Amino acid sequence: MPLVSRQPPSDAVVTVLGPIAPEQLGVTDAHDHLFLRTPALPGQEFDDPDRAIEEVDTAKRGGLQAIVEVTPIGCGRRPAGMRAVAESTGVHVVAATGYHRDAHYPQGHWVREASVELLAKRIVTDLKEGMHPDDWLTEAPLDSARAGVIKAGASYQRISALEERRLVATAIGHRETGAAILVHTEIGTCADAIIDLLTREGVVPERIILAHLDRNPDLDLHVEVAARGVSLEYDTPGRIKYRPDSQLLDLIAGMVDAGHGDRLLLGLDLGQRDYFRAYGGGPGLTYLMGTFVPRLRRRIGDQTVHAILVANAARAFALSRP
Ligand SMILES: [Zn+2]
Repeated sequence: MPLVSRQPPSDAVVTVLGPIAPEQLGVTDAHDHLFLRTPALPGQEFDDPDRAIEEVDTAKRGGLQAIVEVTPIGCGRRPAGMRAVAESTGVHVVAATGYHRDAHYPQGHWVREASVELLAKRIVTDLKEGMHPDDWLTEAPLDSARAGVIKAGASYQRISALEERRLVATAIGHRETGAAILVHTEIGTCADAIIDLLTREGVVPERIILAHLDRNPDLDLHVEVAARGVSLEYDTPGRIKYRPDSQLLDLIAGMVDAGHGDRLLLGLDLGQRDYFRAYGGGPGLTYLMGTFVPRLRRRIGDQTVHAILVANAARAFALSRP
C-alpha cells in the first residue's frame, strides 16, 4: 500500500470521505457513536446503517454538521457504514482508530495479546492508508476510509498495565501522524495520570482530549486539568440518570468564567442502542442541537457556544505536523 500519496496536508481534518479544511467542519458533536458492539454492553449493540442515516439526518436538520465517531478497534467499528452515513446525509464523519479500556476486550482478544509495536502499527495504518474492515487481524483489504482521531481508554481510578501499553501505542501513532488523541476516562478519573503518561511519551497537552470528565462535574478539578493545556470533552447532555442538565450548564458556565471556554468540546456519546430514537429509545442524536444547545446559549451566549461547537472542534481534530 502506498503511504505517501494519500497523506493529507498537515492541519486538515480527515473525514471518512477524505481530508477537509478545519473551517469546513462546522458544528461538531465531538464524541458519538453510529455503530457499536462490545461485550461490556450486552444487548445494546447497534449496527444498522439505515437507522444511523435516519438518526443523523434528523440531527442535521437541527443544525449538526459533523460527528466524531469514536468507536475504536474491536468494538464494532464500521468504516463502510460511516461512509454511507456521510454520503447520504452530507454530515462530516470523523472516524477513530485506537483502543478502548480493558473492559471492552474479553480474555484472549488479540488487543490484549498484541505488542506495543503491533498495536501502534494498526493505528498508523488506519490513519495513513485506510481502516481495517473488521476488528481482527486478517489480511482482508483496507477500507477506502481513513481514521482521523486516535481513541484510548483508562479504567476507573487506575490505568492497567494493558491500558498503559495501548496508551504508549497511541502516542506512537500520534507522533507518526499528528492525529489528536481522545481518551475515555471512566467516570472522569485519572485525568492527571493520563496527561502525565502521554506527555512522557512525547505528546503535547494541546493534542490530548479527555472524554467524559463531566461524569465527575468538579469545577475546581476541571480548571486545574484545563490549565495543563488539554481539551475537556463533555458528553452527558440528556443523560438524566446521571444528573440534571442544569448541573452540566453550571459546569460549562463555570469553565467559561474561569477562562477555559477554549478548552471545551461537546458531544452526546450515544453508546447504547437504547439511546437512539431510530431504535425506539432516547434522548437521540437531535438532543444536542435541539434541546441542550438552546439552553446553553441562554446561559453563556451564542458566540461562546458557537466557538465551542465550531472553532474548538476544528482546532482539536485537525492534524498537527507530526
Ligand atoms: Zn463513547
